Amino acid sequence: MGSWKIRTSILDERPSTPDKQACKHPFYSRTWNRFSWLIFLEEYSQLTCRDCGRIQESCCFKTTVPLSLEDVKQIESLGYRAEDFAEVLEYGEDELDGLENWERESLVEFCGKCYTLVFKHANDDNCIFLKKGRGCVLGEHRALACKIYPFWRRDSEIMFLDDFEESMKDVCMIRRNGAKVDEALKCICETRENIKEYHDRIIKAFTSEKLEYASVVKKILESKNPSPA
Ligand code: SF4
Ligand code: SF4
Repeated sequence: MGSWKIRTSILDERPSTPDKQACKHPFYSRTWNRFSWLIFLEEYSQLTCRDCGRIQESCCFKTTVPLSLEDVKQIESLGYRAEDFAEVLEYGEDELDGLENWERESLVEFCGKCYTLVFKHANDDNCIFLKKGRGCVLGEHRALACKIYPFWRRDSEIMFLDDFEESMKDVCMIRRNGAKVDEALKCICETRENIKEYHDRIIKAFTSEKLEYASVVKKILESKNPSPA
């Protein structure tokens, strides 16, 4: 199974189910089984994970999304400032165990502590870029970790991330309907080749230009700005 801990949702604090009665979206107007789920995918083949946050609670809630320098630069090119959308996450000693080598290598060390950048949360604990009724406002500019989620690659295999099936069982429409990898890929309009490409880009992005990445981490550690524009 894939191991990168892209998102660690705090499930005990998450609403257990979306408000299906209140929602008028066709997603909730059906009795769902595996067959109707596939029909839904046919009818709404443009539905993607980016739409998910518009119609229900999503994995962008209380999420931990690692940000590479490439992600930061891309988002900054849209006019946002890194210190407004990113914060520093400190890794505890016990959390370093089990990281893949590249992941351990990607962390920035200051004064004996290890850090990475992640998205800030808004007051409602959603990612700062998830806007009510609009979904993810970054669109194609969202982080690589968001693009590959909920998949990971090991050797030539594409699989769900380690904790995806358990942690998202009550939330994710992909998981709730028991979609297999190929069905889930179709749901989010991705292919196995795309996931391999995202995986390669993630490893490269998180292990190159370490000095510049470290300077961004240091700047944000020292920043006092509390919220994005
Ligand atoms: S950037 Fe977009 S897809 Fe990624 S966690 Fe934030 S709202 Fe979700
Ligand atoms: S992975 Fe699941 S919960 Fe996350 S955006 Fe996609 S469908 Fe929604």
